[in-house]
Amino acid sequence: MLNLKDKVAVITGGAGIICSSMAKALASQGVKTAILDLNKEAAEKVAAEIKNEFNVASIGVSASVLDKNSLEAAREKIVSALGTPDILVNGAGGNSPAATTKLEWIPESGAGNPEDTFFGLKLEGFDKVFDLNFKGTLLPTMVFGKDMINKKSGVIINISSMNSYRPLTKIPAYSASKAAINNFTQWLAVHFAKTGVRVNAIAPGFLLTSQNRFLLIDENTGDLTPRGKKIINGTPMGRYCMPEELNGTLLFLASEMSSFITGIVIPVDGGFSAYSGV
Ligand code: NAD
Repeated sequence: MLNLKDKVAVITGGAGIICSSMAKALASQGVKTAILDLNKEAAEKVAAEIKNEFNVASIGVSASVLDKNSLEAAREKIVSALGTPDILVNGAGGNSPAATTKLEWIPESGAGNPEDTFFGLKLEGFDKVFDLNFKGTLLPTMVFGKDMINKKSGVIINISSMNSYRPLTKIPAYSASKAAINNFTQWLAVHFAKTGVRVNAIAPGFLLTSQNRFLLIDENTGDLTPRGKKIINGTPMGRYCMPEELNGTLLFLASEMSSFITGIVIPVDGGFSAYSGV
């Protein structure tokens, strides 16, 4: 039913934890994959693993999702090696400690160091996080979406987050930038609706990755931090998500199984967004 063989997919952030797994899931269905990442070596490693494991074409391409020229150069390489893209996964994204407060809330007394609260956040941190998550989705869509419009068929899948529905404490820039992704997913889905190009998003629950490990695991003891415990307590299924658990939704959205679906964000969250905590 998936019928994805010989399609061409570009996966940004394809060397990362979530997107390398997504690239492998697409390759397992015969999709030719371009692993686009800032980290060339890691992208080439994922591409080599894919070729080995699935015997299907895959290339690692170095580019920054924030640099249109590097994306245009990557597009040239991808089109000549694999063909024009049918699927774009906008996976590059993340948070920054410079846009993270130390405290969850300002105490009632107002005491404490303002540097540990909203007032200590750095504008550069906001710029970095907004750029990576929002513009880093916008630009690759401009560069790779045109090919899809020209062939009147294609699928764009953005990667959102639980933060997009209700912000988590401490990470206002990441939360707002992922909310912007949901809004943009809807906007672009409407804008492209008559062209045969569909635009949707996946909102993963919580995975343990390099970007959030500093918030969720105590680096001295290796135990869950109080925040890590709160996440598990707020997830009715009682555990973190494994990267592979996003892939069923990915393949569904990438294929004609979802041919009448555009402009939605699908939570894959172990029940987190359904649970009031009581
Ligand atoms: P990751 O850090 O493992 O992977 C991110 C990849 O993006 C890295 O390989 C990095 O080199 C690449 N990258 C960073 N900046 C780039 C740039 N300018 N241009 C090109 N590539 C760049 O992260 P992950 O946890 O696998 O996250 C993937 C996506 O899923 C992100 O959008 C993230 O916000 C989202 N997400 C993650 C979680 C989670 O719990 N880990 C939950 C919800 C959503």
